[in-house]
Amino acid sequence: MAHLDDSLKAAFYRITCPDSATLGNFHLGLLSDEAAAPIAKHLAICPHCTQEIAQLEAFLGETAVTLQPSTTERIKVWIAKRIPTGGHSRGGVGTPAFAVRGGDTGPLMYEAGEAQLSLEVQDDPEHPGRKSILGLVLGIETEHVTVRLFGEDGAETAVTLDPGGNFTFTNLATGPYQLIVSGPDFEIQVSELTIA
Ligand SMILES: [Zn+2]
Repeated sequence: MAHLDDSLKAAFYRITCPDSATLGNFHLGLLSDEAAAPIAKHLAICPHCTQEIAQLEAFLGETAVTLQPSTTERIKVWIAKRIPTGGHSRGGVGTPAFAVRGGDTGPLMYEAGEAQLSLEVQDDPEHPGRKSILGLVLGIETEHVTVRLFGEDGAETAVTLDPGGNFTFTNLATGPYQLIVSGPDFEIQVSELTIA
């Protein structure tokens, strides 16, 4: 009779049990408070679901490494490709907002994944004999984006992108540089940038 009782009880419990997927989501904290509350209540009285969660826990413990995508896997790396442009700066889209000088060399234009990059090298008015870069990145979320410039000697300078996608480097020596624009989930690499 005790046996029968137990199996009846078991059958009763299982009828009201949440399905495995719901239990799993509950365990991972993916359910809303509203959805989670009755399951927490159920778990307190249901040995079957408690056991199922314990099994799930053991399983997740073994596979935790593969379930956590690493940061590097989520970052898209875009290699910037130079777009040939005419010799004259015509303004308009792709030109940094503050590039008002009438220089006779246009900005360097690059295409990188979903982004477009424009770099204008000018004389740095505050540092005679030195150069500045006025840059503009379009086609990306501009929040939390850092632009880093690496000199030939490995020296690194970093600035952040303004909400309009503009950035500036000043007081630069001539020579080859590498420029990297890094956002939360992408990185744009400009490897051939020579400041003359
Ligand atoms: Zn249950």
